[in-house]
Amino acid sequence: MEAKVCVLIDAENGEWKADLIREVFLEHEADSILSIPLGTLLPADRLVWTTAANGKFSVKSAYNLARSGEKKDGGESSDSSIMKHFWQKLRRAKVPNMVRVFGCKACQNFLPTKMNLFHRQVTDDPTCEECGLEPETVLHVLCQCPKAKEVWTHCHLLHRIEGKGDFTDVLCFNGMNQDQDSNLMHMILMIAWSLWRNRNEKRMSHPCQNKWTPPPHGWYKVNTDGAVFSKQKWVGIGVIASDEQGRVVAAMSKRLQVPLGALEVEAKALEAAASFEKDIGVQKVIFESDSLVVCSAIQGATKPPITIANIISSTIQIMQQLQPVEVQHMRREGNRAAHGLAQHAQAVNDFVTWMEETPTIINSEVLSDVHQFIQS
Ligand SMILES: [Zn+2]
Repeated sequence: MEAKVCVLIDAENGEWKADLIREVFLEHEADSILSIPLGTLLPADRLVWTTAANGKFSVKSAYNLARSGEKKDGGESSDSSIMKHFWQKLRRAKVPNMVRVFGCKACQNFLPTKMNLFHRQVTDDPTCEECGLEPETVLHVLCQCPKAKEVWTHCHLLHRIEGKGDFTDVLCFNGMNQDQDSNLMHMILMIAWSLWRNRNEKRMSHPCQNKWTPPPHGWYKVNTDGAVFSKQKWVGIGVIASDEQGRVVAAMSKRLQVPLGALEVEAKALEAAASFEKDIGVQKVIFESDSLVVCSAIQGATKPPITIANIISSTIQIMQQLQPVEVQHMRREGNRAAHGLAQHAQAVNDFVTWMEETPTIINSEVLSDVHQFIQS
């Protein structure tokens, strides 16, 4: 009963004592503990409210938590008959079929927004690509993004869509009110669908311009990536450092036996890369990661989500010893070598490093990066 949490932490390495935790706790408890990412430098303890991305308690997040509990308990709310009526009305809406289908998907939060892809671990960055300000939820992309607001303002409908909790609220508010024209709901559906289609077309026509390029003279380029092996409850980290001619200076593939999420492992990868470069004595480094959230947090441009705040502050401290340092975002397409090393970690025991040689497992990625650069 006297035991403290610090007993479970290996203070020297800033890691959980995974074996001990697995021994003492039930499996699901151990998974929950190990999925809390630690910063290597173990910053001071503090209280956080995990339901909110910024770690601060808010009435809204408590309300949402309570509401999600209600849904899980199967409790039917008093206005369920209104909702039944609403769904009927939506399914019979006089709009093209694909717009109706879109409306139903939007109301059920089934659209592949970046936030939804993030929850499914398809992407590690939920940020809206249009404004870069907030996570791209259904409500954000259809109603709250500055670009969308412009359209609603132009249609004189901004007051109709503002201040709602989700897209169902928007349609319900405008479609279920007796004295409102039922065309209003149709109009809102059509505009929302156009916004969604426009967003998709724009994304499709945006060819990825980001290719790997060697660093400037006298600098090193360090690419990092993380991989989640959810079945084994492990994660993998890949780090590759190259010189100005694209030659591999050092590389690492590292396995962590903790069930972290996609964002947390990306942050861990950059932290591990900074430590690795410090250990081998490399300076003048440009770090590249394909996580926009992690990069902009390290650059100080945005506040990190609370789950990675400790890792980010450790990483910044380590990087201060490597000055000058730059951190920049690189799309997946330009980060394939690091990706290959992160994937390789699944087959690695603890970690493996390569010095002044290209790991054969990523030979083709490295060659094609350099080749693409020479051609362009
Ligand atoms: Zn936006």
